Amino acid sequence: IPIERIRNFSIIAHVDHGKSTLADRVLETTGAIKPSSGNAQVLDKLQVERERGITVKAQSASLLYNYNGSDYLLNLIDTPGHVSRSLSACQGVILLVDANDGVQAQTVANFYLAFGNDLIIIPVLNKIDLKNADPDRVAKQLETLFDIDPKEVLKISAKLGTGIHEVLEAVIKRLPPPHVERDSSFKALLFDSWYDRYRGVQSLVYVQNGQINVGDNVTYYHTNKNYEVKMLSILKPEEVFVKKLVAGQIGVICCNMRSSKEAHIGDTVHKTGTPVEPLKGFKPVKPMVFAGIYPVDQSQHVNLRSAIEKLALNDSAVSISIDTSPALGQGWRLGFLGLLHLEVFTQRLQQEYDAETILTAPSVTYKVKLKETKQTLKAGNSEMYITNPIHFPDHLTVEEYYEPMVLGTIITPDRYLGAVLTLCLEKRGVQRNASNIDNERVMMQFDLPLSEIVIDFHDSLKTISSGYASFDYEPTGFVSTYLVKMEVYLNGVAVDELSSIIHGSRIDTIGRRTVLKLKEIIPRQLVQIAIQAKVNGKVIARETLKAYRKDVAAKLYGGDITRRMKLLAQQAAGKKKMKMVANISLPRETFIDVLKK
Ligand code: GDP
Ligand code: MG
Repeated sequence: IPIERIRNFSIIAHVDHGKSTLADRVLETTGAIKPSSGNAQVLDKLQVERERGITVKAQSASLLYNYNGSDYLLNLIDTPGHVSRSLSACQGVILLVDANDGVQAQTVANFYLAFGNDLIIIPVLNKIDLKNADPDRVAKQLETLFDIDPKEVLKISAKLGTGIHEVLEAVIKRLPPPHVERDSSFKALLFDSWYDRYRGVQSLVYVQNGQINVGDNVTYYHTNKNYEVKMLSILKPEEVFVKKLVAGQIGVICCNMRSSKEAHIGDTVHKTGTPVEPLKGFKPVKPMVFAGIYPVDQSQHVNLRSAIEKLALNDSAVSISIDTSPALGQGWRLGFLGLLHLEVFTQRLQQEYDAETILTAPSVTYKVKLKETKQTLKAGNSEMYITNPIHFPDHLTVEEYYEPMVLGTIITPDRYLGAVLTLCLEKRGVQRNASNIDNERVMMQFDLPLSEIVIDFHDSLKTISSGYASFDYEPTGFVSTYLVKMEVYLNGVAVDELSSIIHGSRIDTIGRRTVLKLKEIIPRQLVQIAIQAKVNGKVIARETLKAYRKDVAAKLYGGDITRRMKLLAQQAAGKKKMKMVANISLPRETFIDVLKK
């Protein structure tokens, strides 16, 4: 296929707006797969994907489409959860919007990502078959927000398969062919990778220049490691092996790479000994949200370790370090790119590997600048990143604190405006802008601390807006702030697992809330429990949990024996899910629930 007849594109959409359904229809229309009965999505298969309706695995595919008598190569590029990755290999995107739901927060965030990458945007309204669909209203929203001409907007039903040819025609007509050169040295962009138990790490690349053959030696620019190319393939979407890949193609390089840490997304691959100018846009991944993970039962430690390792093989963005806790035993501290990443990872761990875990409350990466001392001078660096409250330095040694911020986008029907504003202010948000997207919906943007949205922000937003408000965020970097470490003491014993780093302005509210919450979730025990929250050694809030008086079964003496047995069995099962901390048994959810509202 000549370069003029290649198109690289990606579909971007708010969750549930029909991206996977459209991708399936596109595959069917191009003959890549047989039309499926029903609506089961070909490429969404994992349990977590079905339940959350999100796509975890990539669904990139190289498709042939005959248009006006000529074959075109359409490369559909998809890196779920990492929109910005796929965009670097595209010339344009299909911006898919539900004609009933209208523009949502992710639509806005995705639009700006694509726009910022100078990509051509093909606006497409989906679900026009729905009774309540109002494509004209949604087209108007696109015009108001993004200056999109309503005449350019396509209207389709991915479910019924109407308008799919028009979408492909727009891809061919509106997008330019990629800027690639077949005569220069081989250069490819690594934009996705996964692990195959027989073949090792597979690299999905977009060949920018030149060509690569099986047997060639390649170097990954940023890691500076060399490999021999063992196999090359194209995903159609089922894998088809080829002898070479040429500029303009998207394909898989299999080169006996053992560790996914060697496949840095955004890296440039070139022939060994023929260096090239690396492609732009390489950013080392930096986990921003951390959580401790422990087996419920230490005998499950080995199983959990292998499950974590297996999952991490496919996900080079997760960072793993060993962590031990007096209460929870041996475990790990995992780092994630964001909240969704954390949730998907831990849910997969449970569902695909049946690993029963205790997850501690998520925390973010903080930065501190230490006061100048002999040690910091000697180390030549006074800055440190903190991913675990346990390592928070004494406040007397700190010169300045920094916390990570995000730009949050919220779209809400205007009747919830007040509630949304209150929530964002409570979360230390600072409003950047607000605009009406039509006569009943508002879009607002806030600077928000990442730490304030990692726990229950999304749930709260959904609750106060009866599910109508949508939210998305983009990290924007560190800003100076004032932080303290809040410690929790149970009967005078510090429980490290419950300590957290909080903003100085929130000491009273969070301290109060934490002790009250603990009083509510810790079951009454034989002894009375004093619950205290302390900052810099000073008690900021306290509560007392009274001891309970009677044995649960006491009342039942002489009663129905089977009922009594059942009760005891329930108690025993309950005990298994408990953890002993400071001689007090805590339900394992305590460590995460304590930070929820
Ligand atoms: P994704 O999250 O963007 O990948 O969305 P999905 O493709 O998983 O679709 C979300 C839901 O919308 C599914 O229940 C689909 O069956 C449904 N859906 C997708 N396209 C259409 C459409 O054109 N019409 C209708 N009525 N439903 C659709
Ligand atoms: Mg999907």
